[in-house]
Amino acid sequence: MSNIVVLGAGVSGLTSALQLARNGNYNITVVAKHMPGDYDIEYASPWAGANYLPFGKGGSLAAEFERDSWPEISRLARDAPEAGIHFQEVKLFRRSKDVGSPTGDWFAELMREDAWFKDTVPNFKIMSKNDTPDGMDGGTSFTSVCINTSLYLPWLASQCLAHGVKLRRGIADHVADAAMMHHSGKRADLVINCTGLSSLKLGGVEDKTLYPGRGQIVVVRSDPGYMCSSSGTDDGPDEATYVMSRAAGGGCILGGCMQKGSWESQPDPSMATRIMKRAVDLCPELVPEGKGIEALSIVRHGVGLRPMREGSIRVEKEVIRGVPVVHNYGHGGYGYQTSYAAAAAVEKLVEEALQERARL
Ligand code: FAD
Repeated sequence: MSNIVVLGAGVSGLTSALQLARNGNYNITVVAKHMPGDYDIEYASPWAGANYLPFGKGGSLAAEFERDSWPEISRLARDAPEAGIHFQEVKLFRRSKDVGSPTGDWFAELMREDAWFKDTVPNFKIMSKNDTPDGMDGGTSFTSVCINTSLYLPWLASQCLAHGVKLRRGIADHVADAAMMHHSGKRADLVINCTGLSSLKLGGVEDKTLYPGRGQIVVVRSDPGYMCSSSGTDDGPDEATYVMSRAAGGGCILGGCMQKGSWESQPDPSMATRIMKRAVDLCPELVPEGKGIEALSIVRHGVGLRPMREGSIRVEKEVIRGVPVVHNYGHGGYGYQTSYAAAAAVEKLVEEALQERARL
């Protein structure tokens, strides 16, 4: 049994730990500053919607991870109601004028009528003009999922515990120091770095290609019965509109924005009003007929920082201060929908890194 420390308890850390724990060959400690149940600006995972809307460009690592994570995510939606994931139809509306705008670029792959994922998700359809609201130039729909992150993250933690993983609070200043945080008291054979945006400052990593993609949301008590999104807004180049209802009473998430480089942790009240107005315009079923945003019942406002990375997600191995490290971070706005394939890639790298170490 090799001793492994997973640094980070977001969706990346917990899914990596679970993947390895199911393998049975590892003695695993998850060490993290923030755990499921916490809400903090340094912890992206609880703030996600989270749904499955592929953003990766066809042929990219992100797209590969999105494609290969769908089977397990949809299996959970079908077979494991306790995980807090359900299937929902999503309608995506496209405006020609958004092509080339920051939000238009962000949604570019998602909005394509010939999307690479049209054979991955069920019921992919191109909408007729009659099915799109005024002002939209086209649209697609398919069956996706929505994950209630306030149930799913604790479920992942419980699955880890059931497979013998130990969970501990801790802060590592340097990634190699995490090797000394294994519950056995012995130095770990390998560290898996799942610290998200904090890998920008974590000693031994300090990845300067990371930056925040600020997202602001409003959680409301409505349930329109479907999810929807549009390719842009008239309110600003980095604002967006999306609506998604979480499983099992998790509320409905209204978003949003993608403010690159912004570290602001507090919700902006005027943006919150714009988010709600746009959501009700796009999805009138959020409120009783004839009503506006005053009819929304608000659970909370929130802000999360997506761990964006220039280039791509980082799933790689290296040796730092003599400690084998496997990185799994930089999942931007798609960390749930990439999680299972990323964890499978981590498992492969762990096996390779431990074999290399054994040969030394
Ligand atoms: P995090 O969740 O940030 O976890 C990092 C972990 O590392 C934490 O436990 C933290 O405490 C720990 N840590 C950091 N530094 C240290 C240290 N030095 N020592 C110890 N512990 C440390 N994704 C989707 O797939 N679908 C969506 O619909 C979606 N919507 C989103 C909407 C918003 C508004 C936002 C903000 C994100 C959204 N995302 C979505 C993206 C997704 O939330 C992220 O990609 C994902 O949560 C990243 O997870 P992570 O585990 O890599 O990082």
